Amino acid sequence: MTKRELSWRKREQFIEDHGIIYLDNVSKVYSKGAPALNGITLGIGKGEFVFIVGDSGSGKSTLIKLLLRELTATSGSVYVMGSDLAKLKHRQVPKFRRNLGVVFQDFRLLNDRNVYENVAFAQRIIEVPSIEIRRNVPTILATVGLAGKYKAKTRQLSGGEQQRVALARALVNNPSILLADEPTGNLDPKNSWEIMTLLEEINQNGTTVVVVTHNREIVNAMHKRVITMKRGIIISDAEGGEYIDED
Ligand code: ADP
Ligand code: MG
Repeated sequence: MTKRELSWRKREQFIEDHGIIYLDNVSKVYSKGAPALNGITLGIGKGEFVFIVGDSGSGKSTLIKLLLRELTATSGSVYVMGSDLAKLKHRQVPKFRRNLGVVFQDFRLLNDRNVYENVAFAQRIIEVPSIEIRRNVPTILATVGLAGKYKAKTRQLSGGEQQRVALARALVNNPSILLADEPTGNLDPKNSWEIMTLLEEINQNGTTVVVVTHNREIVNAMHKRVITMKRGIIISDAEGGEYIDED
């Protein structure tokens, strides 16, 4: 076995044993005061669909930022796809992020560009050949229900459509993991359901999906694994769980 094969095998074994996402006693302290995360241990298996819920300020976004390597843990270890993120060098971060798709509440699109360009951009930065971009972008736009909207400027679109563009952009590079931080926070119930249904389809095609949400109705209807956070710790982790009422 070559060294490369050996390291690939070790990584696959780690993912099988601990999960494609694995946090080992992770804390994050921003400054003085209470830690945003306080000793989190959590494994998420390859191919899972997980909701993360909890009060505002409970540490959900901090957790997502650690997974994206936007932040580093104060203590403990964060592993994504079998890599210890503390050991990732600066120059390795862009390559690491190729395997992660991410969507946010506020869409974060390039509002001076059209739909096609917003999605193609994600491929250009990783130097996908133009001929493949011209094939991939229409395919992914059709998947999210935006066939025929290529030329629209994103600011002319509804919120639901904008989030579909963001989703297409997150998915076009075919990531192993999709992270969504309150993706339906700015959407009406109908569009929220449509986005969640898309996330479920993406998961059924093999992508691991982690969704932070406050949408009680959807969480209770979808019967997925639900992780509930409070003041930086996990207070509940239940398969087929429900949105836990606080207070
Ligand atoms: P959630 O996403 O669940 O609302 P966050 O992870 O955003 O929670 O925040 C967790 C805690 O960390 C909160 O008390 C918040 O005020 C604090 N916090 C978040 N980001 C920062 C930051 N950049 N600097 C200092 N404190 C922060
Ligand atoms: Mg948040």
